[in-house]
Amino acid sequence: MKQSTTTKTRFAPSPSGNLHLGHAYSAKLNYDFAREHGGEFILRIEDIDHLRCKPEFEQSIFDDLRWLGLIWATPVRCQSEHFDEYAKAMKMLEGLDILYPCFCTRKDIRNEIEESNRAPHLKPKRGPEGVIYPGICRTLSSDVRTKKLAEGIPHALRIDMEKAMKLINEPLYWTDLKTGKQEADPALLGDVVLARKDFPASYHLSVVVDDHIQQISHVIRGEDLYYASHFQRVLQHLLGLNAVTYDHHSLLVTKDGNRLAKRDKSITIKSIKESGVLPDEINDLVQEYL
Ligand code: GLU
Repeated sequence: MKQSTTTKTRFAPSPSGNLHLGHAYSAKLNYDFAREHGGEFILRIEDIDHLRCKPEFEQSIFDDLRWLGLIWATPVRCQSEHFDEYAKAMKMLEGLDILYPCFCTRKDIRNEIEESNRAPHLKPKRGPEGVIYPGICRTLSSDVRTKKLAEGIPHALRIDMEKAMKLINEPLYWTDLKTGKQEADPALLGDVVLARKDFPASYHLSVVVDDHIQQISHVIRGEDLYYASHFQRVLQHLLGLNAVTYDHHSLLVTKDGNRLAKRDKSITIKSIKESGVLPDEINDLVQEYL
């Protein structure tokens, strides 16, 4: 097969649990797509969340994917080793004056939403993933903000989405392999967190930076991340990075219609392996959950 320099896919799991059949499906789709297009498949470990990620899960990711027959280049990029690159991207966004510190706890946000639920004229805004951040810290006066920062109150950094879209001032598009050209609608997710309280990056930021650094051409991932793609396109633009092409595959579900989750022990690759299923029987097994 002719080697193409343009197609590069990635499977990017978080080592916060054992991989399940849905991950096997996603990893194989990425792997097969790269091979069919004469491209390259890579593995990336998304371990910025040191509270949830564990080395033993990282090892089991390698073991499970090897068992599935996948091959990838080494060394594997681990996000926890690249906080300096995410900090550089944050600096750039800060320079655009579109970020604000958010001191809210989950409880503050919950209370605010309950409050506005009681006042019909303040109905909280909903996105496809539920109620969006009600903007409590977006409207803090600069005095209050300065005081809170001086007091060292832990804070996240959120993007002021309205301000960002005004700054961009043009429609942005991205391509989904199934649904075609899409206009990015980041308002769907509201003021997304870009640096967390407990570590100086977020899922969205690190993924966009890494997909660029690793020259990923096609991001193939579950349809639960469809709306993330809208936002990540905006982030690419703000950071001056090229767009990638996306594909969102169906999620595997159990007979009762529930999504497979890392906590379901019966469908982890580890348990499937132990039950005597062979790697080339995985595709048939996947079909039972699609
Ligand atoms: N690390 C993410 C996860 O395990 C996947 C991120 C992505 O594919 O963009 O769900």
